[in-house]
Amino acid sequence: MTIPPGSTIGIIGGGQLGRMLSIAAAQLGYDCHILDPHEAPAAARVAAAFTRARFDDVDALNRLADACDIVTYEFENLSAEPLRAIEDKLRPGVRSLAIGQDRALEKRFVEECGASPAPWRQIDSAADIVAALETLGAPVLIKTRRMGYDGKGQSWVTSPDEAEQAWAKIKGAPAVAEAKIDFLAEFSVIIARGADGETRAFPVPRNTHRDGILRHSEVPAGAAVEAQAAEGCAVAARIVERLGHVGVLTVELFATANGPLVNEFAPRVHNSGHWTIEGAETSQFEQHIRAICGLPLGSTALTGTGATMDNLIGNDIAEWPALVAEPGTHVHLYGKGEARPGRKVGHVTRVIRA
Ligand code: AMP
Repeated sequence: MTIPPGSTIGIIGGGQLGRMLSIAAAQLGYDCHILDPHEAPAAARVAAAFTRARFDDVDALNRLADACDIVTYEFENLSAEPLRAIEDKLRPGVRSLAIGQDRALEKRFVEECGASPAPWRQIDSAADIVAALETLGAPVLIKTRRMGYDGKGQSWVTSPDEAEQAWAKIKGAPAVAEAKIDFLAEFSVIIARGADGETRAFPVPRNTHRDGILRHSEVPAGAAVEAQAAEGCAVAARIVERLGHVGVLTVELFATANGPLVNEFAPRVHNSGHWTIEGAETSQFEQHIRAICGLPLGSTALTGTGATMDNLIGNDIAEWPALVAEPGTHVHLYGKGEARPGRKVGHVTRVIRA
């Protein structure tokens, strides 16, 4: 089914990803309607319509689906159940969301796709943390199964004495323990699957994190990553096919001496793909809109020889006067009112044309 330009796209979530999706959709002649519980979310200010409602408000979701020709979501920490009511209009579907938002389901699914996550164990008690230290070796990284992002809900545990404290810190929430991966580099595969099943991946960026938050992405990704990119892309293609995913999905991987390991995937556009706005023939945002609307996928070729993307986090926003004065630097500010520490407030992209 093709959703032609002139139609309305509902977006659940009004953050910067929804904002950049709305801008890309507008360029193709679509109107966007944002649903978000906040008063003035970043996306609502560039979209045609906004409904302020909780994400699990079934009536509001039904009204959104009635008002829109297709509905998508821009983040995965949503309750899956209320979305089943609008599944006939939802792309990607609930399955991508339900698996992608639970680290244990996600890791089992990755294994079923014939790929390897970091060695892991399911954690349902402090005793499980002690057992994980024994089987995986110290230290282990404890991550809550749900609601974690940008390193939130994560802590390193190095000895059995710390198990009780780590378990208390996550308030007894179901979790996973992962072995510490001594990676050569981190990279991500941003892949789209169209309504007709075609898949296309962007050139893979190498990603650098600090304090669990992405700071920098660059393409080309360098020799260590390039050597593992094809395998990463093949894994990503199997993931989107087995999910029956329609839209963009991002797989984050570790390049290790023994090949790629999957860290996690997100059933959506991703911070590590922001460089595609200027650095690729089609941005990840336009690609997602094309996929969910049943249009042909766009070219993922580079516009130059590469690109770099740097996030603006918290007080980095103060650098904007110097950045907008830099020739060739593309400044994106998300219009977020308050520059709280750790909050992503914008990014800059530089296309390499050497
Ligand atoms: P995540 O929230 O799972 O994306 O983790 C955030 C960041 O923490 C990753 O991008 C890595 O830099 C680091 N990290 C996560 N898991 C591991 C691990 N098992 N071993 C080493 N570093 C990790």
